[in-house]
Amino acid sequence: MRKALFFALLGLLLGVGAPFGALFLRMMDSPHDWQVCLRQEWDSCSFFYAYMLLGTCLVFGLFGLLVGRDEDRILKKNKTLATEVLTDPLTGLGNHRFLHDTFKIEFRRHLNSRQPISCLMLDLDHFKRINDAYGHPFGDYVLRHFATILKKNIREGDTAARYGGEEFLGILPNCDKNQARIVAERIRMATERHVFRHKNKRVQLTVSLGAVTSYDSSGFNYRQLIALSDRALYEAKGKGRNQVVQASLAESRKNSGKTKS
Ligand code: GH3
Ligand code: MG
Ligand code: MG
Repeated sequence: MRKALFFALLGLLLGVGAPFGALFLRMMDSPHDWQVCLRQEWDSCSFFYAYMLLGTCLVFGLFGLLVGRDEDRILKKNKTLATEVLTDPLTGLGNHRFLHDTFKIEFRRHLNSRQPISCLMLDLDHFKRINDAYGHPFGDYVLRHFATILKKNIREGDTAARYGGEEFLGILPNCDKNQARIVAERIRMATERHVFRHKNKRVQLTVSLGAVTSYDSSGFNYRQLIALSDRALYEAKGKGRNQVVQASLAESRKNSGKTKS
């Protein structure tokens, strides 16, 4: 129930209490029994009680309505602020903070359910050239549109967020290594095929992706998964861009073992 309605009803209830309270005090004062007193009050003061009932209900009800309306306004504002704090204003996707909050939750779920989880790190190729050639506003438009391509090519339960600049992150719960490759390739191809229009020019660009999949026994935490997908992305860039590289957790564990020893 909205707070305005709740407080208005509460005000009305309190308003009803006032004339009854007055009547009760009168009855306490009365030497007669309460039935006689009631009849006397009804005969002589019914107008006074009706006036009091209407007046207090009106004042208390209105007061409750105003207080509740303010409360509703504050609640709405807090909700908007909470959304804004977690949203990237350019693309409308979740921001860096949102992705950490979400990944933490999804990773815990992954450990409990023992279902695999995959993480994709995406970076637009040679994006600086787009800005340099067509201007920053067009670059912004490309980023916004890329966000919609990204959202279109993941499942409903997946999360896409802007990691920063022209880098994005995908969190894919219940998604094994093969499925992660399929999703990553789908995004890569959709990006490659898309034609952005700038005045009369056709602009196309590509994306590189690093992917990593964790199974329940992998022993990595979610931050390490992000770092590993970033490393795989770096490898994709090194291999010529516009491709998907999947990190191997077994390999990473072996390497980290070697560096420790
Ligand atoms: P690479 O293939 O190695 O990733 O090359 P790149 O040009 O994409 O990478 P680089 O890191 O050299 O440049 C990233 C560019 O992204 C530079 C920066 O101006 C641009 N960029 C970052 N955030 C925004 C943004 O919000 N809007 C626009 N228009 N450009 C942005
Ligand atoms: Mg980058
Ligand atoms: Mg880039």
